[in-house]
Amino acid sequence: MNVPILDLKPAYEELRPELDAAYQRVMDSGWLLLGRELEAFEAEYAASVGVKHCIGVANGLEAMQLVLMALGIGPGDEVIVPSHGYIATWLAVTHVGATPVPCESDPRTYNLDAAQVAAAITPRTKAILPIHLYGQTADMNAINAVASQHGLFVLEDAAQSHGARCHGRDAGALGGAAGVSFYPSKNLGAMADAGAVTTSDDALADKLRHLRNYGSKVRYQNEYLGLNSRLSELQAAFLRAKLPRLAEWNARRSALAELYQARLGGVGDLVLPFVPAWASPVWHLFVIRTSRRNALQQHLTAHGVGTQIHYPVPPHLSRAYAGAGWKRGDFPLAETLADQVLSLPIGPHVTAAQVEFVCAQVTAFFQAG
Ligand SMILES: *Cc1c(COP(=O)(O)O)cnc(C)c1O
Repeated sequence: MNVPILDLKPAYEELRPELDAAYQRVMDSGWLLLGRELEAFEAEYAASVGVKHCIGVANGLEAMQLVLMALGIGPGDEVIVPSHGYIATWLAVTHVGATPVPCESDPRTYNLDAAQVAAAITPRTKAILPIHLYGQTADMNAINAVASQHGLFVLEDAAQSHGARCHGRDAGALGGAAGVSFYPSKNLGAMADAGAVTTSDDALADKLRHLRNYGSKVRYQNEYLGLNSRLSELQAAFLRAKLPRLAEWNARRSALAELYQARLGGVGDLVLPFVPAWASPVWHLFVIRTSRRNALQQHLTAHGVGTQIHYPVPPHLSRAYAGAGWKRGDFPLAETLADQVLSLPIGPHVTAAQVEFVCAQVTAFFQAG
């Protein structure tokens, strides 16, 4: 058996008539940017998240960058980010000229820890940028409490958490605004780069609609120093075809996650994902932890099981941030996680039989010693 870490073709096969019709509709309309498909998708996505506004943009990185721009966050300002996560979150802060201030995660959930966030706040802190990592929300009640105590904006990185819930509310509706990515491999993925901001703040939404389009309200009348960051009609039409399937696709991921949890409990020194009572994750990734990570990955590759590491280099040790002065030892949990995490295949078109096969290979590795 072969189990790839990711295969996007079955999603197309399942939705071929809808996706082909979406393509045809856009081609027939002759309208490719900022049109009816985008407007309709924005309304449908906002409703699904439970916010007033969705503003489609080019990708998840720029979604977060545009929110920070709209808030006027820039040089001299600090934004708290997780030490463990994807570098895009940090780059959004860096690209507006502000300083990312990394904070260690909760060792059980791998998400930003509110107590450590509180300790990292300085007079320059303007915002907190939690990631809902691997498809499970951060503890947003605790993070929002810290933010409101200090008058800080909360921007969610909801790139991996479409449909995830925290105390019954959706990711993307848990802070002041959220950056969302529809990169093809995400739980809700387009056929190319795409992203959005979700928010219930009318003034912020209005500003973002202009900032994504060169900062112009009326053509050639520019109010702000904007970006060109638009979600195309074609991608919006594809996303509209896929959005009605998201809940079921997430449910299929959950069933596979339960199977992994049942089969891999107590195997070797594995640490399995921890789900707090208030969280409903959507399993963007199924991430296990072991001190023998590299050997396990080699074993799985040799037996036809694709895996990935999310992520092998913590942003503070990346060459991109070499000039910032961080060094090994600054964020020990992030460094340990980078050495120990491994993502196993999960997705709406992975089968239970494939997960059983993966679990058998993992178990065989640890039994062999
Ligand atoms: C995918 C991702 C992003 C970036 O989204 P793009 O659309 O690729 O720019 C940001 N943060 C996290 C956590 C992600 O997984």
